[in-house]
Amino acid sequence: MTSNDFIQKEGKYGAHNYHPLPVVLSKGEGIFVWDVEGKKYFDFLSAYSAVNQGHCHPKIVNALSEQAKKLALTSRAFYNDCLGEFEEYITRFFGYDKVLPMNTGAEGDETALKLCRKWAYEKKGIPENQAKIIVCEGNFHGRTITIISMSTDPDSYKGFGPYTPGFVIVPYNDVDALKKELEDHNVAGFLVEPIQGEAGVYVPDDGYLKAAYDLCKEKNVLFIADEVQTGLARTGKMLACDHENVRPDILILGKALSGGMYPISAVLADDEIMLCIKPGEHGSTYGGNPIAAKVGIAALEVLKNEKLEEKSARLGEIFRKEIQKLVEQYEMVELVRGKGLLNAIVIKPKGGKTAWDVCVAMKENGLIAKPTHEHIIRFAPPLVITEDQLMEAIEIINKTLKQFS
Ligand code: PLP
Repeated sequence: MTSNDFIQKEGKYGAHNYHPLPVVLSKGEGIFVWDVEGKKYFDFLSAYSAVNQGHCHPKIVNALSEQAKKLALTSRAFYNDCLGEFEEYITRFFGYDKVLPMNTGAEGDETALKLCRKWAYEKKGIPENQAKIIVCEGNFHGRTITIISMSTDPDSYKGFGPYTPGFVIVPYNDVDALKKELEDHNVAGFLVEPIQGEAGVYVPDDGYLKAAYDLCKEKNVLFIADEVQTGLARTGKMLACDHENVRPDILILGKALSGGMYPISAVLADDEIMLCIKPGEHGSTYGGNPIAAKVGIAALEVLKNEKLEEKSARLGEIFRKEIQKLVEQYEMVELVRGKGLLNAIVIKPKGGKTAWDVCVAMKENGLIAKPTHEHIIRFAPPLVITEDQLMEAIEIINKTLKQFS
């Protein structure tokens, strides 16, 4: 079967809820992926930052395959001999009392929202059903009904109402707007992405997160960080909140928590918050299963042992410096922004050619990335990339842009 055959089959039998770049992948190793015709590509999306550790990292593959042979799933109706080890490892790793394991990022966010509301009623004393959670314009936290209820992107929410109430939307990167909404005693939490990834890699001003955190503390409001995309070394620190020494009251992780091997998400908090949820009030069949527990530990060990946060910080600087030269060189590139190895360029459409056309041309030249919001291209390679490989990839980006100039 050719790439085209695979594409036709997906189009015929699968729901049309995605519009992928026309490339059919069948193999991955480190920073590279291969299509079914055997052509090799630099992966500059990393499955939306799930593959920070590189494709099929041997240590994570080994953790998965060894555990899969022994015991895969027990459900939480019974204990298993892996979960406690993972819970101890991840809580010590990030410095929290407790963890609640789930599977997808969206579930992690839902869990955080539930925890926040429960805490609001049990600890803060907000009257039943009155709790509000402040979120930001341009947010992306997933695709469930409740999560799209707080979205400001019509593609996410339009046509899916009625929506879940209880959210207040403020502009991102606006401390004053947040301060004003925090005057309401019924506000229980502030949910924020330290960098807005899906919106197009919007990096807030230095000091924004710390100022927001301090305001939340003043008003006894939980600061909830969605680090599903920004976490786990992607932005040059283990957590993006670490750039401002902010310790979220509730921390949401996903994606690279498995290095792309398995759907694993986790919510971390201290006892005062986490113990508000009692047996039977939350959970999932797969959350905290033995394979996820072993894979999660291996994925975190790889990040630490291979010093991927340092690498991401150093190579990110080089990447932005080099891409800045392209901004000056090509009219079609408006700007580059990002932190660590989470970056994006903004494309000015030219002669009817858009970010999509640039991505298709980059694919032809051996590098895959995906536009977000039509005019933005995110560049987020696996963090195991070397400096030489990064320079080679930048040359492909340069060559592609030259074709449009
Ligand atoms: N939160 C953030 C910040 C994300 O970027 C994403 C996915 O891109 C999610 C949550 C949702 O994760 P998932 O697709 O695993 O549900």
